[in-house]
Amino acid sequence: HLKSEELNNYWMPFTANRQFKGAPRLIAKAKGMYYWDDQGRQILDGIAGLWCCNVGHNHPRVVEAIQKQAGVLDYAPPFQMGNPLQFELANRLADITPGSLNKVFYTNSGSESVDTALKIAIAYHRARGEGSRVRLIGRERGYHGVGFGGIAVGGMVANRKMFGTLMAGTDHLPQTWNLKEQAYSHGQPAWGAHLADELERLVALHDASTIAAVIVEPVAGSAGVLIPPVGYLQRLREICDKHGILLIFDEVITGFGRLGTAFGSQALGVTPDLMTVAKGITSGTVPMGAVFAKDEIYDTFMSGPPHMIELFHGYTYSGHPLACAAGIAVQQVYQEEGLFQRAAELAPYFELAVHSLKGAPHVIDCRNLGLMGAVELQGRAGSPTAKAFEVFLKCYERGVLIRTTGDILAFTPSLIVQKAEIDRIFGTVREVLETVAA
Ligand code: PMP
Repeated sequence: HLKSEELNNYWMPFTANRQFKGAPRLIAKAKGMYYWDDQGRQILDGIAGLWCCNVGHNHPRVVEAIQKQAGVLDYAPPFQMGNPLQFELANRLADITPGSLNKVFYTNSGSESVDTALKIAIAYHRARGEGSRVRLIGRERGYHGVGFGGIAVGGMVANRKMFGTLMAGTDHLPQTWNLKEQAYSHGQPAWGAHLADELERLVALHDASTIAAVIVEPVAGSAGVLIPPVGYLQRLREICDKHGILLIFDEVITGFGRLGTAFGSQALGVTPDLMTVAKGITSGTVPMGAVFAKDEIYDTFMSGPPHMIELFHGYTYSGHPLACAAGIAVQQVYQEEGLFQRAAELAPYFELAVHSLKGAPHVIDCRNLGLMGAVELQGRAGSPTAKAFEVFLKCYERGVLIRTTGDILAFTPSLIVQKAEIDRIFGTVREVLETVAA
C-alpha cells in the first residue's frame, strides 16, 4: 500500500489518477535547459527530460528538420521497403559506434530495443547451429524497460514478480555497487574482476551451451547511477568470449554523450557484441530506439538457414521518416556543437558539484561519471522513498527539476548545460536538504 504521494511518484503515466490531480505538474512548453509548466512557472531541467533531451529542448535545427519532413513523407512501410533517411541515419550512426557495431535495427523505444537485442542474440546462436543457447542473464537492480524480455532480464524484482512464471530461463548477476561493496573494495583493486567472476558461477551452474547473452547497463541508471568498479566490464567481456556468450550493453541512458564519449562503451573501454539505444538518438523528440549489431552477428542471422523465417521481427514504425529526420538533425547538432566533447570537458566541474553535497543533511553517498550523477539519501525508516520525493517536490517548487529513484536523487542535465545552471541545480538541492526532517 503506497502512500498517495508515493503513488503520485510511481504512477505518473496515469495522469488521470486522483492523487496526481491533486498536485498536477503539467509541462506546457520547453526551450534549451528550461521547461514552463501550465502555471507559467519556469523550471530548470536538471535531468534532460527523462535522461533523453541531450541537445536541449526544442533545438531550432531539430524542430526545423521535423517540420520539414512532415511535409515531405509522413510514413512508408518498413517491410520489404525503406526510405532514404533510414540509410542516411544508419551511416551517421555507424560512424560513431564502437568497433564493428555497424548494423542498425530501428525500434521506437528502449524497451523495444532490449527485446529486439535479446531476440537477435538467440537467433544468432541458432543460425550457427547452437539452438540450445536460449538462457539470458541480466543483473540485480538492472533496468531494461518494460517489455517481457526487458523485465525478464531486468532486476527490479517488484516489476516482474507477478509475471514470474513466464520468465523461465533468466538469471541475474549481482549488481556491481552498493555502499557495502565499495567498503569491501578498499585495498582490493581486483574487486571489479572478482565481482564479474559471478558469471563463471552461472556458467558452471547452467553450462555455457545453454547461455545466449548477458545484458548490462555500462552504468546502471534507474538503480541510481551505479558505476562499475575498474576491471568489471573487462572481465565480463573475457568470460563471455571464453564461453561464446554474447555481451549486450544497454546504452539507452549512457548512449549519445552522457559519459563524454558517443557511447559508454568507449568511455569504459569495452566493446559489446550488441548495443541497445533510444532516448538520445533523437534527443527525446520523435520516439525512436535502435539496436546495433556487429557485422558478423547481423550477417550470420540474416543469412541463417531457411528456418530463420521464425525470426520475423520489426515494428510498423521502425525507421519512421519523422524519427529518422529528427535523428539525423540531432546527430548533426552533436557533431557541429561538439557536444560529446563538451560533456567530457564539463564532467570535472559537474563532479565537484555532485560531491559538494557530501556532508549535506541526509546524504550518505555522492557518485558520478561524465554528466551522470547521483546522491544517495539515508532513507526514512518505514518509508525509504519519502525523503527523496520530498526533495523532488521542494526542488520543483523552487524551479528545478531533478529525478528520484528510491532514496536516490539523480542528475543528468542536457549536454548544453552551463556551469551557472549546474551551480543552481546543486545549490537548490542543498538548500532543500536543509529543510527535510530526519
Ligand atoms: N533500458 C534502460 C537502460 C533504460 O534506462 C530505459 C528507460 N529509462 C529503458 C531501457 C526503456 O526505455 P523506454 O522507456 O524508452 O522503453
